Amino acid sequence: MSIATVNPATGETLRTFAPHTDAIIEEKLAASQKAYHRLRRRPVAERAALLLRVGELLEAEKEALGRLMTIEMGKPIKAAIAEAEKCAWVCRYYGENAERFLSPEHIETSASESYVLFQPIGPVLAVMPWNFPFWQVFRFAAPALAAGNVGLLKHASNVPQCALAIEDVIHRAGFEQGAFQTLLVGASVVPRLLADDRVAAATLTGSEGAGRSVGAEAGKQIKKTVLELGGSDPFIVLPSADLDAAVTTAVKARIINNGQSCIAAKRFIVHEAIAPEFERRFAEVMGRLKVGDPLDPETEVGPLATAQVRADIEAQVEASVKAGAKLLTGGKRLDRPGYFYAPTALSELPAEAPAVAEETFGPVAALVRVKSLDEAIEVANATHFGLGASAWTRDAGEKARLVAEVEAGAVFVNAMVASDPRVPFGGIKQSGYGRELGVYGIREFVNIKTVWVA
Ligand code: NDP
Repeated sequence: MSIATVNPATGETLRTFAPHTDAIIEEKLAASQKAYHRLRRRPVAERAALLLRVGELLEAEKEALGRLMTIEMGKPIKAAIAEAEKCAWVCRYYGENAERFLSPEHIETSASESYVLFQPIGPVLAVMPWNFPFWQVFRFAAPALAAGNVGLLKHASNVPQCALAIEDVIHRAGFEQGAFQTLLVGASVVPRLLADDRVAAATLTGSEGAGRSVGAEAGKQIKKTVLELGGSDPFIVLPSADLDAAVTTAVKARIINNGQSCIAAKRFIVHEAIAPEFERRFAEVMGRLKVGDPLDPETEVGPLATAQVRADIEAQVEASVKAGAKLLTGGKRLDRPGYFYAPTALSELPAEAPAVAEETFGPVAALVRVKSLDEAIEVANATHFGLGASAWTRDAGEKARLVAEVEAGAVFVNAMVASDPRVPFGGIKQSGYGRELGVYGIREFVNIKTVWVA
């Protein structure tokens, strides 16, 4: 894949970048090591103050940064600006809390003194995707820098300008040169980076395939990884739910980021008592969404990020319909330049239909009917993913069972799944492992050092 900005709303190539040569990569690895030895010695409070400054810059520049995201990957401009604001928030969050999260923990033992230190481990390689080109990076970068680590970013090949802008903003805020560098390289260079002694660990957000590959290569080197992979999140609606709120939120949870989010609701598991009404209203709202130019603030759904992402979603819908699914709305690409695909709802899906059996990365909803709470839980768990889940009911007993029994890294009751700097984020099963955000996120890439003084 070439490293280039291709506007997904038009298909036009706006800028291409020459991949970094071996000599440049070597320079950056050396700079990274040097910056690490400086940064790790600075007090946490100093690093936290720099993060607050990064947050201020992101806030001040959110319009321009938002525009860059929209032009490179097609998300609606309002959402892109909101993404820059959320990045500012995560910088503020760790800026304000890092000292507390990293302060030594005293433990009573038979020693005269025993405690735990949280120390940085070195340069961390971040392999990141295009879907939230700023947020995915900052939710790693903010805690990593606060902890005294430095970052090497291998961003997705279709968002190089976002990658360079992130490096620029972090350094302009006052972090030492080399503290957070972008490597303009393809995926094939990643194993070599993981094998380099100067790279201490890696984090990856992306597809299952990329996760397997980075996890395996890092495993060979005994290097720690955090993997945040795909999801096929269930959205369960039971008869006592507030149906108006459930329908409105269901659509929002499916089309967020033009349908390209790991925590988007993908399988809508609805009790048969309310399913006909839910399906009718859901398809109606999906069919009315304003699809168009992502730079227009009125647009609700923009294009898919690449021609490949659209081809994949198109193939999944076609195969699902062939397998017997009923098309309630959408089901086709739009007749205009760019990678647009109509918001789509499918019902009566056989279990093997790709729209339920696989992750769908686009505005395509799979509506599944169930007869009971037990069946809802069984269907929700019938996936090899386990990232998030949203459950809608006003019944206390049902809430308790859903929270206890749905297999996922997060269960949101009467709300859509969303990431928040204050609470941990991550998956189980093949959605990956490790946690980002909150206190858990900052403790992933640290040496949890036991000190025992006799
Ligand atoms: P990828 O997982 O391929 O890309 C994510 C990042 O991983 C990119 O930086 C990519 O680099 C890199 N990468 C890809 N393969 C490897 C590898 N073998 N070794 C090391 N790094 C690698 O996502 P795609 O863009 O191809 O999207 C495909 C599907 O992935 C989507 O349809 C969706 O299902 C899922 N996905 C999930 C995301 C999530 O948030 N969990 C985000 C994005 C995608 P490069 O761009 O250079 O190939």
